[in-house]
Amino acid sequence: MLSYRHGFHAANHADVLKHFCEFLILDKLKEKNKPFVYIDTHSGAGVYRLDDEFALKNREFDQGMALLLNQAGSLPERVRAFIALISNDWIERRYPGSAGLAQKLVREQDHLHLMELHSQEVLNLKQNVRGEQVHIHHRDGLEGLVALTPPKPARGLVLIDPPFERLDEYSELQTALQRAVKQWQTGIYMIWYPRLSARAGQKVAASQRLLDSIAALPCKNVLHATLDVADPADDPGMYGSGIVVINAPYQLDVQLEQTLPAIASALAGSGGKTQINWLKRGTD
Ligand code: SAM
Repeated sequence: MLSYRHGFHAANHADVLKHFCEFLILDKLKEKNKPFVYIDTHSGAGVYRLDDEFALKNREFDQGMALLLNQAGSLPERVRAFIALISNDWIERRYPGSAGLAQKLVREQDHLHLMELHSQEVLNLKQNVRGEQVHIHHRDGLEGLVALTPPKPARGLVLIDPPFERLDEYSELQTALQRAVKQWQTGIYMIWYPRLSARAGQKVAASQRLLDSIAALPCKNVLHATLDVADPADDPGMYGSGIVVINAPYQLDVQLEQTLPAIASALAGSGGKTQINWLKRGTD
């Protein structure tokens, strides 16, 4: 029984980090005419309403994307380009999630494989993200990832964005990723994870094990970036989040260095913190 609904968290600080990085990577893939594949293992609804009972419960978007939109004028150009993709939907009280954003960015020759296990959320996804290039799979996303790799064409991005409600999700991700990377070594894989304060106990240790296992994979250029909006010592629960990018595109580190500090301070003032580091660089 799946209880997690991303609508409660849509457009929060974690979505800002995840979707901004997704935007940078897809934009990079578009620099060549060659087609690519976007695989989303945990797609959610594709587009979220900001005026429904989910989003309005805690109004997490007020501390996330809303702050970015309000300060758009003072943010770096690349961040403004990301905001421009969102702003028309925002006026209509909608927010495109990972799948909705990908659909905005892909070209005719590209394909999207969107996986979602929740039976209502997959119906929402089918309604929100449509088109000839869109393939929606009502299935377990990690099992689907192993089944779909290597894709044709063998060029593209995988986003892995589980709810991380169960402790086992960390090790399940690790196992599936290991198999997928073995089958498709040149794919770009972006993994999102929550940064949780100490009371989350075993999950904190599990996320460190996940990072260590990703660094040990037989692949090159593993980039790690975090965005924190609170001090973990204040025990805020999820105080930030991180992404890991396997086969990070050229200059993604530079692009993040030029933009994430401004995003962090737009979201949390002097309490906003970001770090960008290579878990692995240049070798198998
Ligand atoms: N990626 C989405 C976005 O950025 O808009 C948000 C995804 S949300 C964090 C996680 C989603 O994974 C939920 O919609 C949940 O129903 C779905 N889910 C949970 N377990 C799953 C599984 N084993 N396979 C596929 N989807 C799953």
